[in-house]
Formats: sequence, C-alpha cells, structure tokens
Amino acid sequence: MNFEAVKVVKGKFMWAKIVKREQLTEDLWKTWLQPEEKFNFNPGQYCTIGSGGIERAYSIASSPEEDLIELFIELVPPPDGNLTPLLNDLKLGDTVTMRPRAKGIFVLKPDYKNHVMVGTVTGIAPYVSMLRKYLKDTNFSNYNFYVLEGASYLDEFGYENELQKLAENNKNVTFEASISRPLEDRNKNWQGLKGRVNNVLEDRIISWKVKPNETIVYACGHPGMIEDVKEKLKDSDFTFLEERFWKD
Ligand SMILES: Cc1cc2nc3c(=O)[nH]c(=O)nc-3n(C[C@H](O)[C@H](O)[C@H](O)COP(=O)(O)OP(=O)(O)OC[C@H]3O[C@@H](n4cnc5c(N)ncnc54)[C@H](O)[C@@H]3O)c2cc1C
Repeated sequence: MNFEAVKVVKGKFMWAKIVKREQLTEDLWKTWLQPEEKFNFNPGQYCTIGSGGIERAYSIASSPEEDLIELFIELVPPPDGNLTPLLNDLKLGDTVTMRPRAKGIFVLKPDYKNHVMVGTVTGIAPYVSMLRKYLKDTNFSNYNFYVLEGASYLDEFGYENELQKLAENNKNVTFEASISRPLEDRNKNWQGLKGRVNNVLEDRIISWKVKPNETIVYACGHPGMIEDVKEKLKDSDFTFLEERFWKD
C-alpha cells in the first residue's frame, strides 16, 4: 500500500516506521515506531495502527516524552487473528499506518491517592507509560502506585525488570507479579505470586492497607480478568476503571 496515496485519498493516516523490535516469546514482542509526525498522547491512551487495510488499537507503553512509540503486542494466530499475523511478519524499516490522534479515557485519575494497576500480559503497557511519566513529576510524589501483573508464564512479563527497578528506587511504587500456571515446567524457577491476578488481588489490597475511598483500581487486558475484578469490587468503596483489549 502506498502511504502517500492513502494520505491524499483519506487524509486520516500517517506513516509510522518500525525501527526496533524485541521478541519475548514466540507470540509476544515489543515494537518501537517512528511516526512521520509528532504523535501526542496522554499516558494510558492508545494509538490505532494498521497494515493491509486492517486497523487495531494498541496501548502505548512509552512516555509522551520519548521520541518513539513503544508497543507490546501479542500474536493472535489465524484464523482468529487478523492484524497481528501481518504485524508479526513486518521487518525493521517497514511501515504501518497510524491514525494521527491518540484515543482513550484509560488515563491516570489524579483525584485518588492510591493507584492500583492490574494488568494481564500486554495489559501492562498503559501503566508503564503512566509510571515513566508521572514518577518524574513532583506533582505526583505523594501518590502511591501498586502494580499487579498477571500472566500464564514467567517469560510473558515484558516489563518485570523495569518495574522492579522502579519499585526499588521509589518508595511509593510496589510491583508484584503472579503466574496462573505454577505447575508447568516453563514456570519451574518462579519465586513470586501464584494464581490469576483477579484471585490474588483482594489479598494484595489487604496487605497494601489502602483505604478504598482513596483508591482507584485500574484493570487492563483480558476481559475475563476485568469482569471478575469489577464484580469483586462492586459493593466496595473502591473506584474502578477498565480497558478491555477484546470482547469475551
Ligand atoms: C483500547 C485497546 C487497547 C489495546 N491494546 C493492546 C496492546 O497493547 N497489545 C495487544 O497485543 N493488543 C491490544 N489490543 C488488542 C488489539 O487491538 C487487537 O485486537 C489484537 O492485537 C488482535 O488483533 P488481530 O487483528 O490479530 O485479531 P482480531 O481480529 O482483533 O481478533 C482477535 C480475536 O481473538 C481473540 N483474542 C485472543 N487473544 C487476544 C488478544 N491478546 N488480544 C485480542 N484478541 C484476542 C478474541 O476473541 C478476539 O475477538 C487492544 C485493544 C483495545 C480495544
């Protein structure tokens, strides 16, 4: 597809070049895009990228201050997946289309003192963006951040080292990760939490001693996880905000 042609005909896309890629597992990778024009967004928002005429939403992991747009992508193999098999085949230097405006209301809500961020696999991306940005901003130094990430396997935690470092270096950041298949061989060296995040969350919230009326719980990624967290918090004073990556 010729991007110039698309731009002239539709006037609603720009090019973004793939400049870096890091493969985590066979099905999971990070990609860094260089948009042809400055792409403005708030941490937590998503961009819409496309290839072969198919477009999908991707939460942005980079901070708005970075030059490149960093995404964390999971392959959904055919026949279910449409865009991700195409993205998976792209090489460095190839381009995707990108809608020029970021979207989404899954952003940090500054009215709360405590921010509990629950994510499954790629659902960690918006929190990485928020933490990269807001931990550098003294306006947010009185806020507490509790990140709880879930995955089936230990090699699916794409930002574990970065989040662990942030937790070590910032006393207002807690990072915990849980794997849902502790008995499988692939997880044999796992030292952290075990169980689905929606099942370990209540216990972690108690241990963090956060007051419900001062706390917002964000949930991002797997719709089943989100539905369950929402159900568990529904009769509480916690505020809840969700970003579903697909429909169940
Ligand atoms: C606001 C928003 C932000 C998103 N951010 C990300 C992100 O940061 N990283 C990311 O990898 N994806 C993200 N997604 C999902 C993304 O938009 C695509 O749906 C996904 O990449 C699959 O695209 P596809 O065209 O290959 O499959 P689709 O044609 O979209 O079909 C996917 C179907 O496969 C199933 N499925 C199984 N696993 C997944 C999965 N992990 N994601 C989506 N569908 C799945 C679902 O039943 C779904 O209907 C986001 C979605 C939304 C709405």
